[in-house]
Amino acid sequence: MKQYDYVIVGAGSAGCVLANRLSKNPRLSVAVIEAGPSSDSWKVDMPGALLYAMHDPKLNWKYYSEPEPHLNNRQIFCPRGKMIGGCSSHNGMVFIRGHAQDYNSWAQKGLTKWSYNHVLPYFKKIETWSGGANKYRGGNGPLHVSKSNIADTNPLYQSVIKAAEQAGYPFTEDANGFMQEGFCTFDFTVKDGIRWGTGKAYMQTVYKRKNVDIFLKSQVQKIIIKNKTAKGIEITNKNRKEEIFADREVIISCGSINSPQLLMLSGIGNASELQKLNIEVIHNLPGVGKNLQDHLEIYTQFKCIQPVSLYSLFNNPLVKVYQGMQWFLFKKGMLSHTHLEAGGFVRSSNDYDHPNLQFHFFPSLVINHGLGKPDCHAFQFHTSPNRPTSRGWIKLRSPHSTDYPIIQFNYLETEEDRRQMRDSVRIARNIFFQEAFKSYLGEEISPGLDKQSDKDLDEVIRNNADTAYHPSCSNKMGVDSMSVVDPETKVYGINNLRVVDSSIMPNIISGNIHAATLMIAERASEFILD
Ligand SMILES: Cc1cc2nc3c(=O)[nH]c(=O)nc-3n(C[C@H](O)[C@H](O)[C@H](O)COP(=O)(O)OP(=O)(O)OC[C@H]3O[C@@H](n4cnc5c(N)ncnc54)[C@H](O)[C@@H]3O)c2cc1C
Repeated sequence: MKQYDYVIVGAGSAGCVLANRLSKNPRLSVAVIEAGPSSDSWKVDMPGALLYAMHDPKLNWKYYSEPEPHLNNRQIFCPRGKMIGGCSSHNGMVFIRGHAQDYNSWAQKGLTKWSYNHVLPYFKKIETWSGGANKYRGGNGPLHVSKSNIADTNPLYQSVIKAAEQAGYPFTEDANGFMQEGFCTFDFTVKDGIRWGTGKAYMQTVYKRKNVDIFLKSQVQKIIIKNKTAKGIEITNKNRKEEIFADREVIISCGSINSPQLLMLSGIGNASELQKLNIEVIHNLPGVGKNLQDHLEIYTQFKCIQPVSLYSLFNNPLVKVYQGMQWFLFKKGMLSHTHLEAGGFVRSSNDYDHPNLQFHFFPSLVINHGLGKPDCHAFQFHTSPNRPTSRGWIKLRSPHSTDYPIIQFNYLETEEDRRQMRDSVRIARNIFFQEAFKSYLGEEISPGLDKQSDKDLDEVIRNNADTAYHPSCSNKMGVDSMSVVDPETKVYGINNLRVVDSSIMPNIISGNIHAATLMIAERASEFILD
């Protein structure tokens, strides 16, 4: 019988942090169970190769939403990493903590130990920042976070930051430091031209420890629960069923789609929904899978009248080969970057006391999640509301773990979200129209200059808006009746069971969510060890 102190399900972004912190004490035994394979691959290491892992079914769950009612019934692609490091092994590597007010609003909801002052030390603990430690930044953590130097290699980045200033949006030295609001080059989880996901940052030490067993290609089917106490898990490995037991705790870190799915498969969720699928109800917890949130983006695209975009990298095989060699031999060149490396945080009106929109600048066109090639030199802003008010859900499609769950984001259900999307397009255009960008600005590709009215923009958004890949909040932490975990990440109603990953955010934060996920895992590992 396999028996450990802790069983961690999912060696993704959060799971790797937990594996590292919980196994630091050699007297504690830890099992880490991951559905996917290892992440030892150039597709993971090369920053410019992120599309390969994102579309590879061996390394990705490749979910789709149900038809989205407010997006003209389009089904939205929802890639999720399936390997050591999870999404951190194929994400865009933008490292943004969110705004201090995000965490203060969590505290106001009863999560008093999650205010900005409480979480800042954990954000610092995560990182070794290339700019050096200071009041806000860490200098000694496992995750290497580098300030992008892309503006040294491509003039568009300096110009877009200047144009934003001319449009009235300030320059900020460090969006993760004192002031988020404004434009700058972003931070990246890249070290010396190599992706630094949690599989590298946190697992390299774990591999050397004797008190940890890692089970790869092992999908957990069910949590074993007796007398309302989690005892272990059931996995299939090469079509063989196996049970693994935990003396202390089972910790679920399967991400915002799979964590609620696994709870529901184990009989924890909305009782009537489970009964309809003939699943024995172990604990009625109606919030499981509800409160799903994501950042939805719209692209504002223009032709570039100078040959400084990524067009040649996408279209000229010689450039591709040369840049490939640059990376394989020296870890340098265009493929050592993701190019999504500048942007900003904006308040679209004074009604917001902190930025409600995020802008990412990209010196090319993004077509069909990177599968399409641009046919001209061009650039774009991706813009999204930081704190959408629409809510979606995850439900089981069947009682079988092999059936993908029902994912309904319900994007743009509210007029507030639709208004913010329209505002973001208008602000993006205004920035591109500034003097600093004049020498690059060609014809507007999308939405198209004839699309000016609210009605026309709404239609463009319904037909084109797409995910920023930040599903979250589907097992919210809180103190109300729809909360799934308590303020110390323990599942309500079941002993020895926690959820620790992006699904427990009570509300999505203002920015890319990877950093916040790692902070949650760092903080939870202290709760667990305490
Ligand atoms: C394409 C893409 C780009 C992104 N870009 C950025 C970015 O630039 N910046 C940013 O901040 N955020 C980005 N994100 C979002 C961010 O990376 C994720 O939200 C975050 O890393 C999720 O962490 P997690 O620990 O919750 O889940 P994950 O990292 O997804 O980890 C879950 C792990 O659990 C495993 N698992 C699931 N079910 C089971 C099971 N039943 N049994 C065993 N194992 C299981 C999975 O295989 C996976 O390894 C991006 C996401 C995507 C998909």
